[in-house]
Amino acid sequence: MSDKPFRRGLMWLRNDLRMHDNTALYRTDRGCQSWAAVFIACPQTWDSHGDGDNVVAMRLRSLQKLQQALGQKNIPLYFVELPGFGDVPAALSQIAQKLQIDALYANAEYPLNEQRRDRAVRDALKIIGVPVEYCSDRTLTPPGSLTTNSGDGFKVFTPFKRAFIARHDNGAEGSASLPAPRKKSADHLAQWPEWLALESKHNLVRKIPETVTGYGVADGGEAKVLGWPVGESAGQAQLQDFAAKIADYHRWRDFPAHPNTSRLSPYLNCGAVSIRQCAQMALAENGGRWQGASEGASSWLNELLWREFYQHLLVHYPRICRNQSFKPETERVPWSNNTSDFQRWCDGQTGVPIVDAAMRQLNQTGWMHNRLRMVVASFLTKNLLTDWRKGEHYFMRQLLDADFAANNGGWQWAASTGTDAAPYFRVFNPYSQSRRFDPDGEFIRTFVPELTDLSDSDIHCPPQDLFSQVDYPPPICDVTESRKHAIEVFANLKS
Ligand SMILES: Cc1cc2nc3c(=O)[nH]c(=O)nc-3n(C[C@H](O)[C@H](O)[C@H](O)COP(=O)(O)OP(=O)(O)OC[C@H]3O[C@@H](n4cnc5c(N)ncnc54)[C@H](O)[C@@H]3O)c2cc1C
Repeated sequence: MSDKPFRRGLMWLRNDLRMHDNTALYRTDRGCQSWAAVFIACPQTWDSHGDGDNVVAMRLRSLQKLQQALGQKNIPLYFVELPGFGDVPAALSQIAQKLQIDALYANAEYPLNEQRRDRAVRDALKIIGVPVEYCSDRTLTPPGSLTTNSGDGFKVFTPFKRAFIARHDNGAEGSASLPAPRKKSADHLAQWPEWLALESKHNLVRKIPETVTGYGVADGGEAKVLGWPVGESAGQAQLQDFAAKIADYHRWRDFPAHPNTSRLSPYLNCGAVSIRQCAQMALAENGGRWQGASEGASSWLNELLWREFYQHLLVHYPRICRNQSFKPETERVPWSNNTSDFQRWCDGQTGVPIVDAAMRQLNQTGWMHNRLRMVVASFLTKNLLTDWRKGEHYFMRQLLDADFAANNGGWQWAASTGTDAAPYFRVFNPYSQSRRFDPDGEFIRTFVPELTDLSDSDIHCPPQDLFSQVDYPPPICDVTESRKHAIEVFANLKS
């Protein structure tokens, strides 16, 4: 990009829906005398990627909030719905010409189809002489930039983390974050048309719709999705709230009955909060170090690095994006894929209380506690021997924080098919997990009210005679036998 300011620029928003500490937004504001923002919805591609109503609603409602914030600065935000990513290059080329844009800015995205789309956009705009800048913003360090000594991407988390810390343990993330765009003069808005007709008949407009083709309208009123407040200020409030609790994160993070994790994932994924803002908050608590002073902050920073690790994997190992197991030999697992078992798992009707409580939390709130994501994923892939892709897909459809990299990473970890995955012989026992992490059954009682009256010890594994008295099913499988079977199946792959 040239050092001389461009006359008119366009900021292409994606999952980076915030005013502050937004690299591409900042670059657009500093690099262009006049500029507008655009968001392109691609519901056919979103659907093919598995995005569900909840994550799409979070995106659209957050976009509405961002439009208000940009409007207060006299900066227009356009919206257009196209069918799929394949339609984007031609549309952006037309938009650039009709709006007389000199430069396009966006923050980079790393899944394979997103990268292909972005290369095609760059090529299309090159033809009309418009430069494109993709900024590194979604991660703390650009994916592809951290490698082993032999130049390959890391496949194991711990050495990845070591290399990351060696490069970053200098307090750099503690520096001030990027400011929001500057306010434009009142006539700036008038320099941009109200709407534009595109050749594809998909008009560029300034109104953000409640939903897009094929998706439902979100529950929860104007500023919420399933009870979660949306937008940058909601994300910032969540971050501030968690900052007051971070010192105790390591103590309580595994207990789902207590809201002790940050619950920032929906905001991080649509970009209402930046990953640097999160790291800065925790580093401030931790004396500027990635590991050290505060056990709570160090432990939370470790989780941010898991997120980072999975994003980096996409760039080094694009086959992850092709619906394949990371370990090729695990493609031979003879999954049983029993349809009715899968449906009972989805509905929270397996007869294993902690699994059912977790699945009902997901279905009702669009979010699930991390410990329980591991428990239900292990249960589905090992005890029910169901292909991890079915669980991955169901999570994508339900989660407000659905993120391809973290979700795929989590599922392949639990199924022992991924990088640095759980060893195949380590299968979570849902009853022991329940006794350990929900000792008095408080979480189970919240989501499985049928079991409320059971004692704190019976609630984890209800006694046989209960099933004739309440409307709750007996266990779907014997966890000891099914565990043994799964281990044999995986062990046989080696022979
Ligand atoms: C099967 C499975 C599926 C998952 N699917 C997703 C998903 O679609 N989207 C998603 O954001 N996370 C996913 N995770 C990771 C993790 O469960 C969630 O990020 C976490 O529960 C979000 O809650 P929190 O914000 O309170 O997390 P905190 O414990 O407060 O952690 C802070 C942040 O660190 C990141 N993080 C924490 N744990 C992980 C992890 N194991 N992997 C990657 N990033 C992590 C998240 O961005 C999170 O918001 C999945 C994990 C598993 C086991």
